[in-house]
Amino acid sequence: MSPTVNATAQPLDVAAIRRDFPLLSRILHGKPVVYLDSAVSGQMPLRTIERMAKYERDEHTNVHRGVSTLSQEATDAYEAAREKVRKFIGAASIKEIVWTRGTTESINLVAQTFGRMKVGAGDEILLSAMEHHADIVPWQMLAEEKGATLKVIPLTDDGELILDSLDELITDRTRIVGVVHVSNVLGTINPVKEIIARAHAKGVPVLVDGAQAVPHLKVDVKDLDADFYVFSGHKLSGPTGIGVLYGKLAHLDAMPPWHGGGNMIRSVSWEKTTYIAAPGKFEAGTPPIAAAIGLGESIDYLEALGLDRIAAHEHELLAYATEKLSAIPGLRILGQAKDKASVLSFVVDGIHAHDMGSLLDGEGVVVRAGHHCAQPIMTRFGVPATTRASFAYFNTREDVDVLVSAVLKAIEIFK
Ligand code: PMP
Repeated sequence: MSPTVNATAQPLDVAAIRRDFPLLSRILHGKPVVYLDSAVSGQMPLRTIERMAKYERDEHTNVHRGVSTLSQEATDAYEAAREKVRKFIGAASIKEIVWTRGTTESINLVAQTFGRMKVGAGDEILLSAMEHHADIVPWQMLAEEKGATLKVIPLTDDGELILDSLDELITDRTRIVGVVHVSNVLGTINPVKEIIARAHAKGVPVLVDGAQAVPHLKVDVKDLDADFYVFSGHKLSGPTGIGVLYGKLAHLDAMPPWHGGGNMIRSVSWEKTTYIAAPGKFEAGTPPIAAAIGLGESIDYLEALGLDRIAAHEHELLAYATEKLSAIPGLRILGQAKDKASVLSFVVDGIHAHDMGSLLDGEGVVVRAGHHCAQPIMTRFGVPATTRASFAYFNTREDVDVLVSAVLKAIEIFK
């Protein structure tokens, strides 16, 4: 059992949960849909969809605009969602919760503000070998602009970070470490608390990409002591277009704004503009209000299910799927870390991942096939692409059985 899973957690009532997701009753190509793609985007429960519709139908107006009752109601609902996020990740204050469009925008914000402040010519940015492009490209752009270099924490063949060399990799030129909490390709749960402690021992701040972690693990940013922690609403059973940047208040206060415009200023004159405090100074313009409120509703839903019960259920499915898929000749699973979340990537001899993905789609099985926006991992494992199944709290053993038969059918076709 994974060290991050509570084996005594009460089982989930999956049959009841499935009724909260209308999409799960769809028929695809004449087959009942089997949704194994929550790592790409989690499904939203009905109550989130309805809460967003209620805002659009009965409450729609802008936030932080004037004294109208409607605007105050919208502002209250929008700020209540921020408080739900704060509590969900254990942040000390809502001032530390910045709304963004998603993980990608959160990392770009940090790179373009904190990064530009801290990184100069000859400095180093340390990333792990299992980062998503969202936690590579913004740093590479910054490094090119500043004349800095990227360094990489290597991986074992099982898909675990090699931390023996961490103390040498963090040098007196390292300005920031970026590490993914859970790999979207390998499923590895990284020991981010340890990595943060070791970086902090050398005075180096750490950004954690939590996009694939928050749907599966109870995250406590204070306990982790993360400087920045970022994630997307749509992976957390919420809508697209909304994401979160958590930053320690001292960092956010010291950072310049990124986007300029309305909603983030204290005063504007032709001579000079002054800004409001965090988080507002990073939130120029009209935000995605319905999406923020929807994300708050999804967090309520997940908390009612219980993150420990979700983790236990998904872990059981992962173990079952790993056992079944491993038994298929010619199939190789990428990522065999001891501590894994419910993401399962595989390749099959003689079948391109895209062909496998299309054949599974024909059976109603929705998976992701491709490089998963993590080309350096593909290069590390010498494959162009993988097929990835990812399991959520609404999936069942029967879903895994359908996946396994569909994979066997594909292998038959390619024989
Ligand atoms: N990081 C990881 C680990 C991810 O899995 C993803 C989404 N695949 C992202 C970052 C980017 O998230 P978004 O596209 O929502 O910004």
